[in-house]
Amino acid sequence: MTGSVRDPSIAGEADPSRASALCIGLVEDDADQSRLYTAWLEESGYRVLAFGTATEFRRRLGAASVDAVLLDWGLPDAEGPEVVDWLRHSAHAGLPVVFLTARVTEADVVAGLRAGADDYVPKPPRKGELLARLAAVLRRTGAANADPVLRDVPPWEIDTRQRRVLLNGDEVELTDREFDLAAYLFRRPGRIVSRDALLSQVWNLGSGVATRTVDTHVSRLRRKLLLDGEHGWRLTAVYQHGYRLERA
Ligand code: CA
Repeated sequence: MTGSVRDPSIAGEADPSRASALCIGLVEDDADQSRLYTAWLEESGYRVLAFGTATEFRRRLGAASVDAVLLDWGLPDAEGPEVVDWLRHSAHAGLPVVFLTARVTEADVVAGLRAGADDYVPKPPRKGELLARLAAVLRRTGAANADPVLRDVPPWEIDTRQRRVLLNGDEVELTDREFDLAAYLFRRPGRIVSRDALLSQVWNLGSGVATRTVDTHVSRLRRKLLLDGEHGWRLTAVYQHGYRLERA
């Protein structure tokens, strides 16, 4: 199954412009199907992290940072609803999930949605339908917000087009790297973001190196943007996981 697996440290490395693309976690044990869906998703501008088993997905999700999950119902080591149930009780509880399933009886669909999936697509999926449903789920959950100004965490505003951060309407001077880091974190309020994810997506570096660099930049960003709880949000370290922008 390793053939279908991509290392999160490599994703996006070759093309830094893709660092801002939404990332889809694909959990599918059939290597041919995994390759096919990966190709469809990448053609549509997504980045893809593929996992061959539920175990691998659980183990590696923490170090990755995905915006939605495409989940095969029938995995060798778990059934779809079990995986969704685990996800809903994990640090990634808010991640949108779309099921891929050959089981399309009403009872199955109800079970899947009741477990917490956001939508489902019958197998074999049609390319257009799969992409449309995924896009709809991302829109509904706010991940694909087209507004270039992020306002979900007031009183901060992140203008991703002009690359400016305002706090209570006043611009805060940031370096390019600090801005990228801020944009990444403010797109994911309340979610744990691992150091490895930051290294691969903000620095375009492999995992495991220079984690102190991440810590240093996070400290500086916390200081410059006053993310210490004083304005309702703080940027905290989550032991052994990474960082989280959370309500104070
Ligand atoms: Ca399967």
